[in-house]
Amino acid sequence: MKTAVFGAGITGLNAALKLNKNGIEPVIVEEKPYVGGIAATVDIDGRKFDHGPHAYHSNIPEILSEIKKLGGDELMTRGKEVRIKFKGKYYRYPLEATDVIFKLNPLLALSAVCGYLLVNIKNIFVTPKIESAEDWIISKFGHTLYSIYFGPYTQKVWGVPPSQLSHLFARHRIPHNSLTEVLKKSFLKGARKLTGKEHKYSPLVIEFFYPKHGAGVIPERMFQSIDANSRTFYPNSKLVKLNIEKNRITSAIIDTSEGQKELKADNYISTIPINDLVRTISPEPDSEILSAVKDIRYRSIAVVCLVIDKPKVFDFDAEWIYFTNKIFNRLSDIKNCGAVEAVENGRTGLMAEITCNYGDDIWNADKNVLVDRVAEELRQEKFIEKKDVIASGILKVRNGYPIYNLNYEKNIGKILKYIKTIENLITTGRQGMFKYVDMDVAMEMGALAAEHIAQKKEKNKLPDIPFEEMLYA
Ligand SMILES: Cc1cc2nc3c(=O)[nH]c(=O)nc-3n(C[C@H](O)[C@H](O)[C@H](O)COP(=O)(O)OP(=O)(O)OC[C@H]3O[C@@H](n4cnc5c(N)ncnc54)[C@H](O)[C@@H]3O)c2cc1C
Repeated sequence: MKTAVFGAGITGLNAALKLNKNGIEPVIVEEKPYVGGIAATVDIDGRKFDHGPHAYHSNIPEILSEIKKLGGDELMTRGKEVRIKFKGKYYRYPLEATDVIFKLNPLLALSAVCGYLLVNIKNIFVTPKIESAEDWIISKFGHTLYSIYFGPYTQKVWGVPPSQLSHLFARHRIPHNSLTEVLKKSFLKGARKLTGKEHKYSPLVIEFFYPKHGAGVIPERMFQSIDANSRTFYPNSKLVKLNIEKNRITSAIIDTSEGQKELKADNYISTIPINDLVRTISPEPDSEILSAVKDIRYRSIAVVCLVIDKPKVFDFDAEWIYFTNKIFNRLSDIKNCGAVEAVENGRTGLMAEITCNYGDDIWNADKNVLVDRVAEELRQEKFIEKKDVIASGILKVRNGYPIYNLNYEKNIGKILKYIKTIENLITTGRQGMFKYVDMDVAMEMGALAAEHIAQKKEKNKLPDIPFEEMLYA
């Protein structure tokens, strides 16, 4: 028995690993020369950089223990320390009332606190109508915090106003504590702040694991754990066509470095972006599916990686800092994240994430132009002098974030219904399900797909979306 697996990110690798353990030969097809997808670690001038910080965490016990087993002595444990730089001051994130009250300009602080209290008290009596991300943010933080911070920041990161994004995006991805939690956490110190609930959604995770040599150690070890004698791996190879007859895939055409190749397998697991997958299907689906596919968009990211000739850049031990007034949204210190061996002693590795659209001016910008712009902004911030940058590189992620526009649920619903009609095809993972999930859920998605095939379950019995709410309930 053979199963083709398209994409060797965390999802595809875990699917291949689990298939292999069940005596099924995985045939892995990966566009890039390396495994790991967005979670891969890349060498830049002898140093290790990730595609933005990739911290491991999970509240799925089996996945957490797999991560720990794979990582072994590579794993560093860190408490989460994140800051926002706003109007010249640093704020802890998730927000704490004491920070807002004592650091913000007093009038703005009064307006922010009153706005926050007002909506939270109003919510007790009237259930707010929530459709967009804007509705959700205002209902949790109030109008002032929305208009001075969350609104502009969301627009900058996503390239669209929060009124055009689904409330699900904000609900799942914006760290938020209830009114009582905010007050309690603001006035407690250290470990007493922890309520034990912080793992419910990933942004509130308070402890995580990071491999010393970068996040990619885990996917590399996943790949090595697949028995080399009973797997086939095609790196530098791209799925370009899926031939379908009578609701079954009969073969896949892949572009390899040695030309086109036809693959035949019993089953097919795809973890590539769902819109790209549908575009490979022949004969092509009807116009309703094609127009849903056209409306599916991902946000891209250019990660500017800099080696700085200074042992420390941040004045505190934060893993990363969010900025509203820079070309980048987030600046991370890879050693502070836990990848302490990624860059040599005495030097710092910084990752500045710039979100963009595939093919726009940022995406196409010359490397030196982006590096120079980021270095200049870091100089203005008094983090570095430009001469401190001794090496640099750019990591580009075409499918960084699924954009949850107001139609996305309807569109994805139609596409998934269509894919379900193809009996021997499963689409899964962050890209394959268009779900903004973290690595642990991606691993779980891969495992579920493999288990489904190994146990010869019917296609319509595949759990629809193992998403945060299902797994983290
Ligand atoms: C900036 C950023 C920071 C993140 N930080 C964290 C974090 O701190 N913690 C956390 O848990 N998660 C984090 N994540 C999420 C995490 O990266 C993903 O959940 C996970 O890597 C998704 O894995 P995947 O295999 O589903 O997708 P991918 O990693 O995207 O894998 C898909 C693979 O398919 C390949 N592919 C695409 N098209 C084709 C084709 N036609 N043919 C063949 N191969 C193809 C791609 O090259 C890729 O290798 C972060 C994500 C981003 C963007």
